[in-house]
Amino acid sequence: MKIHEYQAKQLFREAGIPVPQGVVATDPDGVAAGFDELGGPLAVVKAQIHAGGRGKGGGVKLVRSAAEAREAAAAILSKPLVTHQTGPDGQPVKTLLVEAGSDIDHEYYVGITLDRSKGKPVLMASTEGGMDIETVAAETPEKILKVAINPDAGLQAWQARTIAYGLGLPAESIKQATKVFTALVDLFLAKDASIVEVNPLVTTKDGGVVALDGKINFDSNALYRHPEIVALRDIDEEDPREAQAAEVGLAYIALDGNIGCLVNGAGLAMGTMDTIQAAGGSPANFLDVGGGATAEQVSAAFKIILSDPAVKAILVNIFGGIMKCDVIAEGILAAASETKLSVPLVVRLEGTNVERGRELLETSDLDIITASDLADAAAKAVEATQGAAA
Ligand code: GDP
Ligand code: MN
Repeated sequence: MKIHEYQAKQLFREAGIPVPQGVVATDPDGVAAGFDELGGPLAVVKAQIHAGGRGKGGGVKLVRSAAEAREAAAAILSKPLVTHQTGPDGQPVKTLLVEAGSDIDHEYYVGITLDRSKGKPVLMASTEGGMDIETVAAETPEKILKVAINPDAGLQAWQARTIAYGLGLPAESIKQATKVFTALVDLFLAKDASIVEVNPLVTTKDGGVVALDGKINFDSNALYRHPEIVALRDIDEEDPREAQAAEVGLAYIALDGNIGCLVNGAGLAMGTMDTIQAAGGSPANFLDVGGGATAEQVSAAFKIILSDPAVKAILVNIFGGIMKCDVIAEGILAAASETKLSVPLVVRLEGTNVERGRELLETSDLDIITASDLADAAAKAVEATQGAAA
């Protein structure tokens, strides 16, 4: 799960990590009032979306008066913000953060993430702050300093100092920087984060160390331990179909093909996607209804798949183990008629009560294409999409 910069900065503040004073607003007047509250002379108006690269996309503007702040806010709110992380349609901006401007001396990069090869979190830092860290990693990997963290012990004092000296920080900033590194690691561990990133962490002309940006992603599997984090969720920033699926306990991932897949079990779902590709097609999604899906879940799954305009055919591939094939067939029929199915539906059922299930599908009034095995089902689904395109 992701959160906004202003929410990450609130968590930083609570953890004792210095951040600029800021005001959150949702309209130009609120941003202008925020400028006055902060007192100038310089402030920064920042679009709050769950994507990076806002600066380059025009979502971060320096302003020197309340009037300028109002104008910057209106400009940012007027259209979706397009960055290299949003896709070409961009992301609508609903919330702005107006912050007291900082007198930047140097911008650094600091991030914590899980290093799967080491099986530990790593703290990374670089003097190349403000830049895309992927670019730094690709072109000048020697400019990224790393230390592996023992999750039971946290960041050790010598590790924090190694990074601070390695960055060549000015003497008057070393002590504060080591405190910031330690607090960021503690926050990462305490909140079950998967990423904590500050890009840039800046030194100011008076020797201060300030987090000018903040990004935190959380491990969704650990959210049950953090209701205060769940409360920060902004559904508008998520794929609406993924959010809808999560609400009814389905695992749905949007992909860019045109065959909607409804499958039980993640392994079978992956096998189904591979078989579609092998048959020359392309899946529109990955949807796992799980081993014990109910008729309601099957119906919800259909609605989610059909709400994607890219879907030209649906392939249902279900192995009836815990669930019996006749129950599944009834669920499919109910969902298909309820959703006024508008695209070809190919069904492959196998498992307990499969004969009864197939009979139900074949004798129904609905136009359902049944398949004898997975390869047959994939070929029929691909053929159905080609018919739709012609
Ligand atoms: P991002 O582009 O989405 O990562 O947004 P950031 O919050 O990192 O802002 C982009 C850039 O704006 C930073 O790298 C800074 O160079 C600049 N910036 C942000 N806040 C301030 C500030 O208070 N003062 C100044 N001078 N520049 C700032
Ligand atoms: Mn940034």
